[in-house]
Amino acid sequence: MICNEKMYALGSKRSVIRELFEYGKMRKAAVGEENVFDFSLGNPSVPPPPEVKETLTRLLLTPNETALHGYTSAQGDKSVRETIAKNYEKAFGFSFDPDLLYMTCGAAASLTISLNAIVKDESDEIVTFAPFFPEYRVFTEKAGATLVPVAPAEGLDIDLDALKKALTNHTRAVIINSPNNPSGVVYSQEKLEAVAKILSDASDTFGRPIYLISDEPYRALVFDKKPSCLPLLYKNTIVCYSYSKALSLPGERIGYIAISPLADEAQETYLAVCGAGRALGYVCAPSLFQYLVKECDEMTADIGVYRANRDRLYGALTEMGFECAYPSGAFYLFMKSPTGDASELSEAAKKMDILVVPSDSFGCAGYVRIAYCVSPEMIERSLPAFKKLAGVFFKK
Ligand code: PLP
Repeated sequence: MICNEKMYALGSKRSVIRELFEYGKMRKAAVGEENVFDFSLGNPSVPPPPEVKETLTRLLLTPNETALHGYTSAQGDKSVRETIAKNYEKAFGFSFDPDLLYMTCGAAASLTISLNAIVKDESDEIVTFAPFFPEYRVFTEKAGATLVPVAPAEGLDIDLDALKKALTNHTRAVIINSPNNPSGVVYSQEKLEAVAKILSDASDTFGRPIYLISDEPYRALVFDKKPSCLPLLYKNTIVCYSYSKALSLPGERIGYIAISPLADEAQETYLAVCGAGRALGYVCAPSLFQYLVKECDEMTADIGVYRANRDRLYGALTEMGFECAYPSGAFYLFMKSPTGDASELSEAAKKMDILVVPSDSFGCAGYVRIAYCVSPEMIERSLPAFKKLAGVFFKK
């Protein structure tokens, strides 16, 4: 093969999620859209807040089109970064420096840029908590490091002892994702404080700072409490944010990286982020959407729909006998396979035209992921099928 084998392998193999989504399209054509309960994909189902359309329309009517669609600074427009920093301080009481903020094409770009900025050699390890977003492995390996998953504690919570054991003198960073994809679990403030203490101690023991990469595309989607502010807990924090889910704009590709000004070598780390952005060809995130988020940064799509879906589905499934970790955020439910075999449950569900993703690719065996970012009507229509599925596993 004359092209790169690793890239070929990545490109030629569809993810389990995409595979299921494609199957769903085929099945809908065969049996009718309303008879397939497709919970495969994490695509927001609520529209962006109305202000998004208003702002876009106003921006598009601006007389200065050349500036609107032109390049901004490589790291993003300064006034956009200043506004984001100001809003973050208002929300969390923590001041980011706009000159340590880098606008990106969403959380995926924020992660790849951050990882490429900090990985130094191939012995570097990036620790993360299972279950985890499968692309962490792809991004980490492309940056030249190895992903080290930490198995969860009861309730898919963080296992602090397992974290301690996973940290070594090769650990460059820990990726944390709360609210979590695929479990919907939001880690408690106490748990995050304990993680911060462990990372500080390990940084001292190994004589090199461990970065905490906080992957936050679901930060705005917390239903029952206020999201925690990681930079307030741990100095060497890099926040990777995205507006994909917060504003229901996943196709527009906009987000940012914010390095804590308290981080060791914050300025050098930021310049490495600028360098990685340059090397990966990620300079100047889409200008129109930079200007949009400047005005809509503090808004959120109507998460009431997700909360209602969560309540209905979690209530109904647990009533039927299924076990799920309580999802306080995002729009995912992680349901335990009654036999311990994820594929067995997802295949049985498929027979009832319920499409749910087996958990193995999330680094955690024995569950299925249900993306409930769907219409409330579909949730209602799906319940008899779930009931039938329960009948397969829980015989009276
Ligand atoms: N991180 C997590 C945990 C995600 O679930 C996703 C997308 O679903 C991403 C990162 C990538 O987000 P974006 O669409 O902003 O690139």
